[in-house]
Amino acid sequence: MITLQGKGVSAGIARGRLSFLKRTSLSVAKRPIDDVEQEIKRFQAARATAAEQLDELAGSMTDKIGKENALLFEIHRMMLEDTDYTDPIIEIIKTEKVCAEYAVNTAGSRLSQDFADMDDEYMKARAIDIYDVSKRVIKLLSGEEQILEGKDEPVILAADDFTPSETAQLDRSKVRALVSAQGAANSHTAIFARTMGIPAIISFGAFLSEDLSGKDAALDGETGVLYIDPEPRIIKELEEKKERQRQERENLEKMRGKPTLTKARRPMKLYANIGSVSDADAALAGDAEGIGLFRSEFLYLGRNDYPDEDTQYESYRKVLEKMGDRQVIIRTLDIGADKQVDYFKLPKEENPALGMRAIRICLTRPDLFKTQLRAIYRASAHGNAAIMFPMINSLEELLKAKELARAVREELASKGIAFKEDVPIGIMIETPASALISDVLAREAAFFSIGTNDLTQYTLAIDRQNDSLSSFCDTHHEAILRFIRLTCENAHKAGVWCGICGALGADFSLTKSFVEMGLDELSVEPSYILKLRSIIAEC
Ligand code: PEP
Ligand code: MG
Repeated sequence: MITLQGKGVSAGIARGRLSFLKRTSLSVAKRPIDDVEQEIKRFQAARATAAEQLDELAGSMTDKIGKENALLFEIHRMMLEDTDYTDPIIEIIKTEKVCAEYAVNTAGSRLSQDFADMDDEYMKARAIDIYDVSKRVIKLLSGEEQILEGKDEPVILAADDFTPSETAQLDRSKVRALVSAQGAANSHTAIFARTMGIPAIISFGAFLSEDLSGKDAALDGETGVLYIDPEPRIIKELEEKKERQRQERENLEKMRGKPTLTKARRPMKLYANIGSVSDADAALAGDAEGIGLFRSEFLYLGRNDYPDEDTQYESYRKVLEKMGDRQVIIRTLDIGADKQVDYFKLPKEENPALGMRAIRICLTRPDLFKTQLRAIYRASAHGNAAIMFPMINSLEELLKAKELARAVREELASKGIAFKEDVPIGIMIETPASALISDVLAREAAFFSIGTNDLTQYTLAIDRQNDSLSSFCDTHHEAILRFIRLTCENAHKAGVWCGICGALGADFSLTKSFVEMGLDELSVEPSYILKLRSIIAEC
């Protein structure tokens, strides 16, 4: 038996033969050409057909991977139209007088490498998207088809990496799990695998070699371990775990629709964190009592320009309508730091996490902020909305942000546009400063939601993006727990509620402490809700 450790990105246990994705190599040889104009036309024709294919895919994949995920193919189409992508290709055809296949491959590989070299994990993960788009155009130019080798029995499919197109188009009945040598946890391949419920492990490196093809294998997508020729003992362990998980799911189902009550029968709220409209379906499926954190900045990512007011309004309205009476807390823009967007043209900073981000951008660029606030207020007419400002550090910042919200309300009222007057305005507590002055902030906030991801980063001075510091990152550090306790006490003294929307909220080992501290709400990934409800009932 060989045991390989990778990074589990989609939970689940699977067993089957290991089968490597067969891709016929596409011809990208450097072929000289005589007629440059003709070759550019050939490239443009292939590009136009690729765009049509992607439009079709965006529509047809909705059922399989969800509408928001299928939007990726629209983003791929936008990449194809972006001059940053097309100009270098045309330039190579013109200057080197070579065929379009070679030009697309060369320029596409360079751009893909530029993304792969970026520090930001989100941008790094976009390298495979550029590769995917280029491969699509080359296929059209060369007229070659890439065939995913068909298998009669379902397999564990292996590859160096999977493109989003390949993952989205997988035949679920033929694939039990995915394993790859490379990949990123926040790549679309990982997201699609989770959405489709396919266990997946990435980052095995060179250990996942083609020599293993055809071998019997078993894996645990939660722990990220792949067993080749698993011993009977391992098979038994995994089967038992699978059965335990099935039973646990069955037991947890009994908590569905029940109120969340502590042992002393104090009510708490279990909300969900979402980043897109379709995530609201997952929140409902997970039995969320509301949305505690709608990361609105995801509407701004993966685009070439700002989403306009109507586009944002539509997204907020849809989430509010889906959630009905349940509260939806929309966190205003939290761009900057780890979430960089080119069109914001933010200055390059030495320490982006300590730089121009979140509310600082919004207060510096009120027009941008007011556009978002207008969209949120307009949508508020359609449900139970609340607004939450990220990264508030001082009373002045909160008052300025609230003043802009007031100006937006006045503007809408003067135009006779429908909105709710009394949308609660709360804040995130994400810095030691805000936790320490939470007594002052509580006078002006309708609620607090503690962002433990950033609170940990700023309290322990540990960059949350830097994996190499993980051994120093004690998420249970007494300083963080004291800040949470203090914030909760100050909130209650002022009569406002206090929750947690950072990852610590789903740390089951702390649930009892949070119940004892008196926290009113936990906002977590939807899949944790039933489990948390059952734990809280015992605390
Ligand atoms: C947090 O910082 O804990 C939080 C929830 O916000 P984000 O992870 O989006 O920065
Ligand atoms: Mg944060």
